[in-house]
Amino acid sequence: MNYSTAVQLDKVWKRFGAVEAVRGVSLHVPAGCIYGLLGPNGAGKTTIIRMIMSIFFADEGQVSVLDGQDAAAVKDRLGYLPEEKGLYKKMKVGELMTYFARLKGIEDREARRRADELLQRYGLGEWRERRCEALSKGMGQKVQLLITLIHEPDLVILDEPFSGLDPVNRDLMRDVILQMRRDGKTVIFSTHIMEQAEQVCDYVALINKGKKVLDGSLSEVRSSGGRAAVLDYDGDGHLLRDLPGVAKINDSGKQAELLLQEDADAQQVLAAILGKVQIRRFDLREPSLHEIFIRAVGGADDA
Ligand code: ATP
Repeated sequence: MNYSTAVQLDKVWKRFGAVEAVRGVSLHVPAGCIYGLLGPNGAGKTTIIRMIMSIFFADEGQVSVLDGQDAAAVKDRLGYLPEEKGLYKKMKVGELMTYFARLKGIEDREARRRADELLQRYGLGEWRERRCEALSKGMGQKVQLLITLIHEPDLVILDEPFSGLDPVNRDLMRDVILQMRRDGKTVIFSTHIMEQAEQVCDYVALINKGKKVLDGSLSEVRSSGGRAAVLDYDGDGHLLRDLPGVAKINDSGKQAELLLQEDADAQQVLAAILGKVQIRRFDLREPSLHEIFIRAVGGADDA
């Protein structure tokens, strides 16, 4: 890794007609980390990613990659998995991968070697000579991910990489992301599913309605939210209402997140639950990113 800042955005704005898709967003993505761009549908994540990749240009503000460069000038060092995923149906899988590697400046023999190696490593070895149209959706996404990585980029940007994947392939995607960090690469990915980010990200930025509402290291962001308890239980969740020391409860039926008041005594909270429901687990921790996001958005100026 021979750069210290992977991506920098300074007060960036992007408008589509009357729609202000991105409103004054600044981001700093250090090299060598996994960075999550989080927010609900329509928040502006894809627009931010497209500006980072120089597919769109900012109306105002500055965007740069790899220590102040324009993405177009260093495209061979970047890998990009777009949100709209699709492959050239009639091409054979191995040929397609080789073709994309060649576009990124890899010599033909080496491109073939890498395509073979990646397909073998990720369990798609027998697909090399078959056409892309025969791939299932999940397998197609896997091939597209391998295309994103085949030129061994320094910075990889994945737009909603987990969407449409089954649990096995979600784990594979997570493992690939973790491996890239071990290899000293930087990974930025977008998602609206907070739990995915919670598991792997070093840093996160929460985006809502085109604005950044919160960012920082995952531990900073989570510890800003106070204390919570996770309760796994069986029984009637209604009985968990109005517990002493609990400011709010996010109840999913079998699991509840209890947001504790500042001065709450967790032992007393636990004691108050005993006898109401059957406790399978009671765990003290920081609030979930989901809760932190809801709070941050609730307090944000949407004007
Ligand atoms: P999702 O999770 O649903 O993909 P997102 O956070 O990636 O959402 P964007 O796709 O960046 O959000 O969209 C942000 C806003 O900008 C939306 O209101 C969207 O309709 C608008 N927008 C995005 N691209 C365009 C475009 N090319 N033309 C017009 N409006 C656009």
